Amino acid sequence: MATLVPESHPVLHTIADEVPREDITSARIQKIIKGMRAVLHAYKGGEFTGVAIAAPQIGVPLRIFLIEDTGTRKKDAQEAAERLPALVAVNPRLVKLSRQKHLAHEGCLSVEDSYGTVSRATHATLRAYNEHGMPYQRGAGGLLAQIFQHEVDHLDGILFLDRAEEIIEKDMTLKGKTTKKKHL
Ligand code: ZN
Repeated sequence: MATLVPESHPVLHTIADEVPREDITSARIQKIIKGMRAVLHAYKGGEFTGVAIAAPQIGVPLRIFLIEDTGTRKKDAQEAAERLPALVAVNPRLVKLSRQKHLAHEGCLSVEDSYGTVSRATHATLRAYNEHGMPYQRGAGGLLAQIFQHEVDHLDGILFLDRAEEIIEKDMTLKGKTTKKKHL
């Protein structure tokens, strides 16, 4: 049974390996993807919902991530339009990042105690293979673009904490206390 590895685990701080294209549909890789999906769905982060996971987060040093909105199903049509697409990205590359950036709130399944604000490109274009080994390209803005950048960072051994302009302790927020700045 796949589980999240702790924040200090070396695999979260190492550059992950590419998956040979012919291996994408193999039982081994399909099992890893299944494990990632199971862990994402099992994630209980209090008020925080899991929407994406990268293979290193379950201790697998391979370049795979997936996005799936596990939050409560939204009924409102407009909210439904904002729901994240479900996708699997193997050997993803960010082929384009907008020059325009914004400060985005960011949390991570692998970082239990805090979230933060990170400067991210507002738009990103991703090139990857899906779980069937087919290549695709997808452009995104807003939250989806942010997730692309966060997940590709995971594959390069980078946590949002390494990039955060501000880190907010979850406990402190709950108690209404002031935020803690990170020293860069
Ligand atoms: Zn993360």
